[in-house]
Amino acid sequence: STAKLTNRDVKSKVTFKDVAGLEEAKIEIMEIVDFLKNPDTYTKLGAKIPKGVMLVGPPGTGKTLLARAVAGEAQVPFFSLSGSEFVEMFVGVGASRVRDLFKQAKEKAPSIIFIDEIDAIGRARGKANALQSNDERENTLNQLLTELDGFGTNTGVIVLSATNRADILDKALLRPGRFDRHIYLELPTKQEREAIFQVHLKPVTKGSDVDVPLLASLTPGFSGADIANMCNEAALIAARKIKKEVGQEDFMEARDRIVGGLERKGKLISPKE
Ligand code: ATP
Repeated sequence: STAKLTNRDVKSKVTFKDVAGLEEAKIEIMEIVDFLKNPDTYTKLGAKIPKGVMLVGPPGTGKTLLARAVAGEAQVPFFSLSGSEFVEMFVGVGASRVRDLFKQAKEKAPSIIFIDEIDAIGRARGKANALQSNDERENTLNQLLTELDGFGTNTGVIVLSATNRADILDKALLRPGRFDRHIYLELPTKQEREAIFQVHLKPVTKGSDVDVPLLASLTPGFSGADIANMCNEAALIAARKIKKEVGQEDFMEARDRIVGGLERKGKLISPKE
C-alpha cells in the first residue's frame, strides 16, 4: 500500500511535559511553537520565520519526541518521514514521496514536517553506501532541496529534521533558507536521567524500595530511550516473577541487560561523570 502511516497527518498528543531534561533545547524550540501559533507577530514586523531546523544529537536523546512535542504544543498536524525508508526504494519513489509530503503539509498549514535520519538522504554527494544507488538518493535529496527552496518563509510550514551525524551532511542542506538552525541534544546528565526516570516510572507500579536517584547514578551513558527501555524491562522482569510491584532488584536486573546490549553495540559506558 502506498498510504504509509508515517505520511498521514497525525495530531500529536506529546507535549513538553513528556520531555524530561533538555531545558535549553526546549527553550530554543519554544520559539518554533510561537512562530506556528502567532505568525502575525513576526510577519507584521517584516521578520522571516525560519523554514528548517535541524535537531542534532546521539541516538535516543529525544529528537523525535521533541519534534512531536512541538506539534502537540502548537496543535498543528505532524507529517513525518524517515530517511531510512528510502534505502530500499525504487527509482523515482523517493522524490515523489518528498513532493507528496510537502504538498500535504502545505494544504494543512500551519503544520510541521519531520524528517528523521536525514543523513540517509542528505549524506554528502558522491558517498554511496552499499545498499542504495547513489542516483536515487541524489534524486531524493535534490527534490528535498527544491521543496525547501520552493515555499515562502511565511507559509506556516516548518520543517524539522533529525540526525546523529551532522558531520556527514551535504553542505547544500545547511545553507541559509534551508536547515540553517541547529538545536543540539546531549546525553542526559545524572539529574536529567532522574527526571527521565520519573516520566517513565509514572505508569509503573513500583515498590517502596525503588531509589530513583540511585537508578540515575547507576546509569551513566544511558540515553532517554535506554531509560524508557529499562523501566519497561524492569516491569517485564517483575511480571515474570509474578510480583505485585516492581522492586529495586528488578530495575538492577533490567539495567544489567541494557548495559549488556549497549556493550555489544560498542557504546562506551563511563563509570563516572
Ligand atoms: P534516534 O536518533 O534513535 O531516532 P531520537 O533522538 O529521535 O532517537 P526518540 O525516538 O525521541 O529519540 O526517543 C525514543 C524514546 O525514548 C522516546 O519515545 C521516549 O520514550 C524516550 N526518551 C528519549 N529522550 C527522552 C527525554 N528527554 N524525556 C523523556 N523520554 C525520553
